[in-house]
Amino acid sequence: MSQATGQPAFGLAGVMGWPVAHSRSPKIHNHWLEKHGVPGAYVLLPVAPGALPVALPGLAALGFRGCNITIPHKVDAMALVHAVDANARRVGAINTVVVQADGSLKGFNNDGFGYIQSLLDREPGWRADAGPITVLGAGGAARAVVLALADRGAKEIRLVNRTFEKADALAKEFGAPIKALPWAERHVALADVALLVNTTSQGMHGQPPLDLALDALPLRALVSDVIYVPLETPLLAAARQRGHATVNGLGMLLHQARPAFQAWFGVLPEVTPELRRIIEATL
Ligand code: NAP
Repeated sequence: MSQATGQPAFGLAGVMGWPVAHSRSPKIHNHWLEKHGVPGAYVLLPVAPGALPVALPGLAALGFRGCNITIPHKVDAMALVHAVDANARRVGAINTVVVQADGSLKGFNNDGFGYIQSLLDREPGWRADAGPITVLGAGGAARAVVLALADRGAKEIRLVNRTFEKADALAKEFGAPIKALPWAERHVALADVALLVNTTSQGMHGQPPLDLALDALPLRALVSDVIYVPLETPLLAAARQRGHATVNGLGMLLHQARPAFQAWFGVLPEVTPELRRIIEATL
């Protein structure tokens, strides 16, 4: 037992999902465990959809410090933990569970933190209030990204989604600075923007490219995509060829893992070029 935490000195964590075999999280966390000399292991936890109500409450009894939650459990898991932190409640989903000292479970969502850090990695002086922001997509990733941008002081967020009603509902739920626009307006919604973000699945491996003309996008705009397979989506390739600075989704994935590792193992790890190379080799 560790005297400080009362937990077993060998730390266990994992990722619950279905399917989960493709997850890069074990490579990320096991790299940090080794690097920081923390005795422990991060494992895959394949949990079928109907099994979550049994699996999640079992974490503490199994001696786990916590786990990540991925598809398809991110929303359902909220109802199965004892407490949900305020940001995760606004996002409406959790991607991290921490076993508290009393054995209870608390849910967090670090995707927005990861996204912002990925921009700061590329441009340390990046500011959310540098100009209008256009976000494409209104799914789970969009909710985390849009809230994080609003919390960082964005003045205007143009939210454009194929299904307008979803963007409109999100804009009404969160209010200013978010404004919903119809999908047909996505090309002109790029005028004057300082940041363009793709949170749709378009451009992901196995999906068609995002249908977007960049002509109206100012050349100073930063272009980011939350997709990381492939690392350079057709959108990012087109933006790079026009001369834009670009940010892929790998930084978001790596940075969202940092606060989780800290909560479980007591060390805030760094995203190093070495870690990036290790994960890029798996993509
Ligand atoms: P989601 O909740 O299913 O949302 C999918 C979004 O894509 C919706 O806005 C959907 O629009 C849009 N979309 C789907 N097909 C489309 C099409 N043919 N044309 C235009 N828009 C289309 O998924 P999600 O969880 O937000 O994930 C979205 C992407 O983010 C995935 O590629 C995922 O891998 C990535 N992601 C990355 C990270 C990271 O750490 N880097 C984290 C989370 C997610 P409708 O509303 O009209 O269906």
